[in-house]
This record gives sequence, C-alpha cells and structure tokens, in this order.
Amino acid sequence: VAVLLVIFAITLKNATGVLAAWLGARLSTQIAAELRTSVIRVLMSAGLSFHRRKRLGETIAIANEFPIQVQDLVFHLVNILALVTTSTVLVGLLFVLSWQLTLVAIALGTVCLILLRRYVRGLARASKTYIDLRLETNHRIQEALGGIQLIQAYTREAQIRSILEELIDRSRHVHATIVFQSTTVGFITDVLGASAIGALLFCAAFLFEPDRGQLVARLLPFMYVITRLVPLARLINLRRTKIVSDLPALDRLHEILHVEDKRFLVDGTQPFHRLERGLSLHKVSFAYAPGATFALRDLDLEIEKGSTTAIVGRSGSGKSTLVDLLLRFHDPDEGEIRIDGMPLADLRLASYRQKIGIVGQETFLFHDTVRNNIAFGLEGPVSDEQIIAAARRAGAHEFIEALARGYDTIIGDRGMQLSGGQRQRLAIARAMLRDPEILVLDEATSSLDNRTEQAIHHAIMDFGRDRTLLIIAHRLSTVAIADRVLVMEHGEVIEDGTPAELIAGSGKFAQLHAAWRESLV
Ligand code: ADP
Ligand code: MG
Repeated sequence: VAVLLVIFAITLKNATGVLAAWLGARLSTQIAAELRTSVIRVLMSAGLSFHRRKRLGETIAIANEFPIQVQDLVFHLVNILALVTTSTVLVGLLFVLSWQLTLVAIALGTVCLILLRRYVRGLARASKTYIDLRLETNHRIQEALGGIQLIQAYTREAQIRSILEELIDRSRHVHATIVFQSTTVGFITDVLGASAIGALLFCAAFLFEPDRGQLVARLLPFMYVITRLVPLARLINLRRTKIVSDLPALDRLHEILHVEDKRFLVDGTQPFHRLERGLSLHKVSFAYAPGATFALRDLDLEIEKGSTTAIVGRSGSGKSTLVDLLLRFHDPDEGEIRIDGMPLADLRLASYRQKIGIVGQETFLFHDTVRNNIAFGLEGPVSDEQIIAAARRAGAHEFIEALARGYDTIIGDRGMQLSGGQRQRLAIARAMLRDPEILVLDEATSSLDNRTEQAIHHAIMDFGRDRTLLIIAHRLSTVAIADRVLVMEHGEVIEDGTPAELIAGSGKFAQLHAAWRESLV
C-alpha cells in the first residue's frame, strides 16, 4: 500500500506540474496583455494635468515593461499554487504513514520558514530599490536624449554621464544582491531541509524505540515522501523570492491604473454642431494643484460668436490656462464655462474639440509626411487641393514646395528638420484645414518675422470672418486686428475693450502701446 501511495504521489506531482505550466503560461500572458492595454487606455484618457506631472521615461517603462514583470509574477504564483497543492497531498500522505512524525515535521518546517522570513524581507526591500532605480535611470536617459542639444550647448555631457553611471552602478549592486539572495535561498532551504530530516530521524528513533520492526516498515516510506517534499519546498521558496522581487512592479502599475488622481473628465452627452451665440465664463477659478495659487481667479467673460479677441498680458498671467479651460483640458475648480448657454461639461468632448482649431506655443510634428502632418486629426479623406489651399493660407505652401519631396517630405522626429517659423505655419495650416468653428492661436506666430506674420494675419482674418477667433499675442500688429482686447494679470482680466478704446485710456495696454510705438521708432 505504501508503495502504491508513493507512486500516486509522484504521478500527482508531475501532473499538477504540467497543469500549472499550461495554466500559468496562458493566464500570465493574458493578464500581462490586458494590463498593457488597460494602461494604454488609462494614459490616453487621463487628463492633461496628470501627464504634465508625470515623468515620461518612467511612464513609458511602467506602461511597457512592468506588465511583463507581472506576467512572471502570475506564472510563479500559479506554479506555487500547484506546488502547495502537491505538498499538501504529500503531507496528508505523511499523516497516514505516521501522524506523530508528521506533526514533528510540520513543527520543523515552520521553524525553517521563520528562519527564512528575514531573508525574504531583505529581498523585498532590495527589489523595491531596484525598481525605483530602474525607473529613475529610464527617466534620466529619456530626459538627457530629449535635451541633448541643451546639454551639449552647455557642455554638461560629463555631468549627465556621471549621474547615469552612478545610477547604473547602484542598480548593479542592488541587482547583484537580489540575484545572489534569490539563488542562495535554494541552498539554504536544502541545508535547512537536511538538518530538519536529521532532526526528524532522531525523533523517529526515539518514537519507535520500543518496536524496531515498526521503525523500518513505517519510516522508510515516510522518509521517501519527505525527501520528495524537500525539493518542493525548495522550489516554493525560489518562486516565492521571484514573486517578492516582482511585487514592486505591480505596485507601480497599480499607481497608474488607480483612477482617482488623474482628474478624469466626465464626458458630456450632448453633441456639438456649431456655435450659435458664443462662449461665456461664469466666475471661473482654477488652480493647477489643490492649494496652489489660482491661475485663473473669478473670471467672468463673454465671447461672442464671430468676434476676434486678442488676449495680452505678461507671461504667467494665465492666458494659456484660459485657453486650455475653454478647450476643456481642465475643468474649472469653481464656476462654469458655457457654450451657447450650455455647460461645457455637458457637451460630448470629441464633438466639441472637433470644431476647434488650436495652434499652441510649441508645435508638435509627427514622423510623417508634410501632407499627413497637415491632415492630422481629420476623420474623412482629404484632397490634395484642400491641403494645398490650407498651406497657402498659412503661408506654408512656398517653403513646402521647396522641400526635396514637397508635400511627401518626411518631417518631424528623425525626419527633415524645420525651422520654428515653418513649424508654426504647418500648425496653422493644420488648424485651418479642420474648418473650425473656433480658432485659438496661442502665441502661434511668435517665431515668424514681421512680414510673414502680417501676411498670415491677413489670411487668418479672412479665414475667420464668421468664425470665433481667440488670439494670444505679444505684438501690437497682431493685437490691432482684433475687435476686442483682454489684458490679463495674475489670472484676472484687468482691461477689456476695443484696441482704440484701450489705447486712448491710461491703463496697462496704453502703456504697452506707448512702449511698442517707441520700439518702432
Ligand atoms: P501665460 O500663458 O499667460 O504665460 P499660463 O496660463 O501658462 O500663463 O500660466 C499661468 C500660471 O499658471 C503661471 O503662474 C504658471 O506658473 C502656472 N502654470 C501654468 N501651467 C502649469 C502647470 N502645468 N502646472 C502648474 N502650474 C502651471
Ligand atoms: Mg502661455
């Protein structure tokens, strides 16, 4: 009977092993894939304020690498479950063979576990440090590559290199500790196991003292099963250390997937077709972080459909913030923005943003053709004529034609590099091609020379006849074309009127105007 039991035990062990491998492989890859897609989904829908706070290099690593680590974790977990199941059956077997000895064995096993505990804790700490170091390194490399021109211009290469070298060196030490510890755990388990078996033999001799015949008949199969159990315990411990070292990755993923702090915007339900009357702000206040000073303070404002509004003011006065709120990149902390009297938050965001063209301070170009960069974001097919017409209006057609492959030239990251003014003109063409109801230019012509800027302004005015235009600018020539000027300071509108009115007054704008006049002389 004992022999049959042993054969059963061995078959069981291997069968669960195969099952665990199969299940582990399927489950872990599936979970990893789902984690990756959910992280992407969360990142795509997280509000702009979340992304601006995050370090890019870190986020990339967490989104792309860490699910793989969780995949390992799940695989080990499934296997541990199988190992534990087998061990439990084996322990049951031991009970049948001799319950007294089994109790002794369990007591010894518990002692071994306690001895190993400190060890595993140290490993957990090292693993967390290692993950943090990895993320820091990723972030530093990403930042160094992004700022390579600045770094070279200020000859800071050696400094960056030494920071990275130090990070790499620290990672190496921590990683060496982890590898060493998680490998030696196996040996330690072996030694502990052997000592436990010795102790067990001693107890057995004591227990069966009165009956020597019993000793051999019972002890032999018992010992056989025990010697099968020890490698299992070793494996369980090894896998446990692996899990412990993968756990911090799960924590970091959880941080990203944890929804609360991302300022998700709740999408509205009403479709937006066109602007009928105008935009309005009602007592709008906004701060970038809880407790920070308000970037916009108690703002009341009406912007009529079809008007051209220029926003001026010192840098940091809240101009871009105002525009970002109008585009619903953030929701106001207090007050409300209304579009044709309807709260902006009630509008379906996608349908609203589709009707807005925006040209920001910095122009992002994709690694793609000029044509596709201009047509970016349009749903349907676009004809070449439409693209060329938009480029002409934005004063970009001539320089595009002069490029080696015209509209088919690859630009952007790793493509043909364009000047700041050229990039801005492409961005303006992109925004015009959308045929927007509302066009927002946030220092969109700041890199252009005076004459090009003038030409584009005429085109924009022409284009904007029945559209609503918001222009943030520093040059008087730009401001002069507006129906209305808003002067901002510390998140408030301090002057509001037509350019002529403001110039005639004695406020900030009149002062600015005088300064401009002087600089022209
Ligand atoms: P402007 O466009 O007029 O130069 P902004 O609207 O960009 O000014 O900034 C208004 C204020 O908000 C500034 O004090 C600036 O420091 C702050 N601010 C702007 N962007 C952020 C941000 N992403 N996080 C925190 N504070 C910000
Ligand atoms: Mg700005």
